[in-house]
Amino acid sequence: METILLRVRDPQQDREAVQRAAVILRGGGLVAIPTETVYGLAANALDPAAAARIFQAKNRPPDNPLIVHIEALGDLPKIVRYVPHKAIDLAEAFWPGPLTMILPKREVIPDVVSAGLDTVAVRFPSHPVGAAIIRESGLPIAAPSANLAGSPSPTNARRCVEDLSGRVEAIVDGGPCQVGVESTVITLAEDTPRLLRPGFITLEQLCGVLGDVAVDNAVLSKLEEGVKPSSPGMKYKHYAPKARVVLLEGSAEEFVRFVNGQHGKNIWALAFGPEASGLKKPYLLMGETPEEQAQRLFECLRELDDRGAELVYARCPKKTGVGMAVFNRIARAAAFTIQKL
Ligand code: AMP
Ligand code: MG
Repeated sequence: METILLRVRDPQQDREAVQRAAVILRGGGLVAIPTETVYGLAANALDPAAAARIFQAKNRPPDNPLIVHIEALGDLPKIVRYVPHKAIDLAEAFWPGPLTMILPKREVIPDVVSAGLDTVAVRFPSHPVGAAIIRESGLPIAAPSANLAGSPSPTNARRCVEDLSGRVEAIVDGGPCQVGVESTVITLAEDTPRLLRPGFITLEQLCGVLGDVAVDNAVLSKLEEGVKPSSPGMKYKHYAPKARVVLLEGSAEEFVRFVNGQHGKNIWALAFGPEASGLKKPYLLMGETPEEQAQRLFECLRELDDRGAELVYARCPKKTGVGMAVFNRIARAAAFTIQKL
């Protein structure tokens, strides 16, 4: 299949490209689209055949459900059985934006989308280009991250091309993603709201709206063998570059001393900022604030592969605020290999 590349920076000016993407989606095709979190691989969420093609294109295990994207709050009751007060409160606070809510699904959502669960994940993205394409399609859009399963999520169109060229009808280049990590996922399908995946909307912000929010065990520690995950995606070794990643917990000085003391080839460091000037190994920088780290992390992981890194020592991000999302992703890239310095 030939994959067309559509450049859209301003949905008004590039209206024709937006329309082309929407026509492909209405015809049951696949289009990689920019969102504020990461690029998504979009298809008609109401068409089981189109949604099934997402799994094929990504090599995604069929038991890992998709997030359904809407572009108006009024579309929510069309896909979920009921809208609890808590969902309305969260929507008012954070939609459009990088928050996904798990709610009881309606029949219109095919089993292939929800991976057989009776709940569906819903998000209302804020990216002007992604939202314009969804609006133009007139459909709820199923869209997981637009990477091959197992590799870090793409935060720019070039990485989508790398993974999906020849596998999808189109890739829309809307520039780099601002958030850089996938949406916060919270389930409202149980008595107590529970954070299933941390993201740019923080636990602290969710608690500010809902009061109490539980945090799933798999957010900050490794899912134990034999335990059924609350969110199927948790059990997959996501976000992993080819290199082995080891997280080092300690001060900047301890980090530099430890990394400089290591011997072997293709050892890289993943640092935050100024501390890297002391490193005698090649390094990439994630940034000093959790927001910068979130925005850069996946691109750093992909770049480390490009550079042939075999072993990567990474600074350990803080676990609060947006840092919780950064920690969750990098800890999973490291298969929770964390060394205290
Ligand atoms: P991705 O689109 O690649 O970010 O993956 C979507 C994430 O949302 C996966 O980790 C899924 O496990 C999670 N998810 C989607 N639908 C549900 C659901 N109904 N219940 C729990 N988690 C879900
Ligand atoms: Mg994904």
